[in-house]
Amino acid sequence: MASSSYSNSPCAACKFLRRKCLPECVFAPYFPPEEPHKFINVHRVFGASNVSKILNEILPHQREDAVNSLAYEAEARLKDPVYGSVRVISVLQRQILMLQKELEATNADLMRYTSNEHSAHAIPSMDGSSIIDHHQQYYQHGGWANFGNQNIGMSSDYYNDEGDGPCESGNGSM
Ligand SMILES: [Zn+2]
Repeated sequence: MASSSYSNSPCAACKFLRRKCLPECVFAPYFPPEEPHKFINVHRVFGASNVSKILNEILPHQREDAVNSLAYEAEARLKDPVYGSVRVISVLQRQILMLQKELEATNADLMRYTSNEHSAHAIPSMDGSSIIDHHQQYYQHGGWANFGNQNIGMSSDYYNDEGDGPCESGNGSM
């Protein structure tokens, strides 16, 4: 428990590698003995010698950020050997795209509502409101929580009048 208070307590890296932790140890400031898994993860994914090479190549004030990013990437890689941190990045990118579409749709709705306010008598209330409802439904189905369902909502609303396209061609002569 109080072992970390001893000045000669080896860092997590030197403890794991079973070597003497010297005062100039490049790992010591970033791999404290209380966090053994931080070093073990980084060592398993990148290798201790590569990590020390990286730390020696960059400026001292960049080392903490570099170690934190290596530790994050190593943990993600061990959790998901195929995609690593890319899985998290792509999920977040997809969320950004969906939210941007939602924001665009909301801004378009907002513009439509404010222009309706200015010329409330000019627009037929029945047709105008139904178009906005369909529009809202589309973007609600298109929200990132229900991403897979948006085609169902679209096809029933928009393609009913035209009949089934694929069946038409299928019924003809083969
Ligand atoms: Zn050390």
